[in-house]
Amino acid sequence: MGALAAHSEYIGEILIKRGVVPADRMAPLVQLVREKGQTLVELLVTGKVADERAIAEALAAECGLGFMAKIDVEAIPDEVASKIPITYAKQYKILPLQEDESCVYCVTADPLLVTAVDDVRTIFKKPVELAVVTNEAVMNAINRVWERKGATGNLEGDQANEEDNVVDILDSDDDAPIIAWVNGLFAQAVRERASDIHIEPEERDVVVRFRVDGELYVVRRASKQFIAPIMSRVKIMASLNIAEKRLPQDGRISLKIAGKSVDIRVSTVPTSRGFERIVMRILQKTSVLLGLDELGFSPREYRIMDDLINRPDGIILVTGPTGSGKTTTLYACLNRINHPNINILTAEDPVEYEIGGLHQVHVQASIGLTFASALRAFLRQDPDVVMVGEIRDKETADIAIHASLTGHLVLSTLHTNDAPSSVTRLVEMEIEPFLVRSSVIGVLAQRLVRMLCPHCRVPYHPTAYELEQLALDPRRLAQKARRVLKGKYAPHDLDYKFVGQTLLEHDLGYEQAVKEIVFHKPGGCDACGNKGFLGRRGIYELMLVDDVVGPLILKNADAMTVKRAARQAGMDSLRDDGARKVLSGMTTVEEVLAATQEDVLVDE
Ligand SMILES: [Zn+2]
Repeated sequence: MGALAAHSEYIGEILIKRGVVPADRMAPLVQLVREKGQTLVELLVTGKVADERAIAEALAAECGLGFMAKIDVEAIPDEVASKIPITYAKQYKILPLQEDESCVYCVTADPLLVTAVDDVRTIFKKPVELAVVTNEAVMNAINRVWERKGATGNLEGDQANEEDNVVDILDSDDDAPIIAWVNGLFAQAVRERASDIHIEPEERDVVVRFRVDGELYVVRRASKQFIAPIMSRVKIMASLNIAEKRLPQDGRISLKIAGKSVDIRVSTVPTSRGFERIVMRILQKTSVLLGLDELGFSPREYRIMDDLINRPDGIILVTGPTGSGKTTTLYACLNRINHPNINILTAEDPVEYEIGGLHQVHVQASIGLTFASALRAFLRQDPDVVMVGEIRDKETADIAIHASLTGHLVLSTLHTNDAPSSVTRLVEMEIEPFLVRSSVIGVLAQRLVRMLCPHCRVPYHPTAYELEQLALDPRRLAQKARRVLKGKYAPHDLDYKFVGQTLLEHDLGYEQAVKEIVFHKPGGCDACGNKGFLGRRGIYELMLVDDVVGPLILKNADAMTVKRAARQAGMDSLRDDGARKVLSGMTTVEEVLAATQEDVLVDE
């Protein structure tokens, strides 16, 4: 007779003796325990032979222990509960609640498992005071305690030094610490606003890096022997094939961490060392879904964008390299016009976030579902607005133009450095210039720059070189200010107006002019984790296809000519918009220059 069956038989005898279960119903159940491997209590409860509470009370009485109807999970300190690995707690249905000088107070659903009580006594090195609870109560409490720990990320003190993490995993050879370690990692990533988690084996250990605001940092290390269990755990969560270690795999994890819904895209790649590395992209609704007014547009850009997305037809293009925040911008636009009376269809690769009210399709080239074929199918679905992830080829461009000309608003992206180049790129795809002119209504180029932490940024007076790099030399500012004053610029262009006017009115020399301008550099404080930066925002170049730019497209003018004309009509280049954000203390000169290296300044 197996141990489980023997134990069940013993419990069965007690329950019969105490009148909880009639003897004639017990025998077949004990037989089932042997066949199915379920516990007697589980069979009694699922078979509705006896209820949980009656069983627990009978066991408590038999052992001379108290029965506890309810467990106050909030009152259980993490450091007490976590002394017992979760798999052990679940297997033996035992949970420590409190500890004092004299003993440790535990609840169990099975007080007859004396070995478990012995183990707890050994771990805490003090006597165990036991109370009996129902099976359901103890399992719920165990789950909630561990969820709580996972949610707050205190699993193994990830705030402490990295050695602690290693030791924690070494403590036990069962799976629970790995699960806790991975859960804690996700919680830490969300807390520290990481966009990506990289787990990779190195010479001696496993290194975990977070990408925060575009920069990678080492956040944890673990002993190399744990690379396999860590990888397996992540693969299980992402529904990947654990056994496949030679081919790349892609998967997805959906989690709730501290009340926030988090989607994680998982990618595994084998390395030459025989191990895999895992990169996870974290998609937090709160960072992907921003309002149009939260993107960091200047008032002019905001007004134009808001007008463009409310037009009935036309193509709006967003351009920039990978990771420049194009998707966030497109989502913000769609969200703005997302009403029940508007049919919005999107083709994305992949769908980064599901937005209620939108019909989103994940394109898969491998099965023939391309941007072009999705877009063609959309047009038979009576759409008002379509968003197509990217225009990469003539076919997609043709259909997008057709859609626009037949009364649909089309949003898409292109890979070009600046807004004017998008027009020439379409012409290079063999699209007739007159079709570009009659369909494209606006092009937004963008980059992401890190925002200074407002709590610790350090003001300073910029050097002449820095001003020159941002085209903020007094001569140019004065020129801009003159245009503002003449009404050529929108009157809300306050930063330039203020700075330029100051220079004009006081007729300052260069030396003094520099002293009037204040820039900021990063400091470091608790709010930003000593990084000096907090979050990222876009810098933008929004080109309107209007009476200035339109005729140039028809004439097949080069990008430089288009750019010069657009700027003279009031468009700010990426670097101009960056300069505005430097002037208003949002970011640094270095951030803007790094993000706009290829943004060629056109001399006016
Ligand atoms: Zn700070």
